[in-house]
Amino acid sequence: MVRENEIRKAEMAVEPPPASDAGLVFIGRIRTPWTSRLTCPRQGRADGPICRIELFEPWVAALDGIERFERLEVLYWLHLSRRDLVRQSPADDGQTYGTFSLRSPVRPNPIGTSIAHLVGREGPVLLVRGLDCLDDTPLLDLKPDRSLFTPIAPPQPGDFEIGDSQSAAMAERT
Ligand code: SAM
Repeated sequence: MVRENEIRKAEMAVEPPPASDAGLVFIGRIRTPWTSRLTCPRQGRADGPICRIELFEPWVAALDGIERFERLEVLYWLHLSRRDLVRQSPADDGQTYGTFSLRSPVRPNPIGTSIAHLVGREGPVLLVRGLDCLDDTPLLDLKPDRSLFTPIAPPQPGDFEIGDSQSAAMAERT
């Protein structure tokens, strides 16, 4: 794992395909106290400082109903990350781990997620605790914490089928 954009002993970088944004839209920005990756928390904490999630128009109407949820899943774009490491050395000790076995910000698509505690709302701005990103990090999405959310749409067959029958159906297709 890099702290900024250096590469360490035994880490492995690849030549990634040209970056494209996959059509993502930044729906807001996150305001936090941290301006350096060297001082940012590695993971957010429920007792961390209050941060501001500022929604851009035309997405503010999409916040309706969000106050019902005590915790939100926040997805953000770790925009300063390099994206080419497949093996990383978080402790910088020569021992490396595959990128997908880590929560490092360095990944082919640098999406960060945190469970944030909703403290309040001021119009287009949510006040939350539990983030670990730099000031001005682009916001990708907000969802209620899945453990607090019950689907409103009626259930459908896949909700009741057991895994084995679904695997068998898939095996038949391949
Ligand atoms: N909680 C998220 C997750 O698990 O997906 C992110 C975890 S990541 C280890 C958090 C670290 O990413 C921070 O300590 C900081 O070093 C780095 N970071 C934060 N914001 C960033 C940004 N906008 N661009 C690049 N790196 C960032």
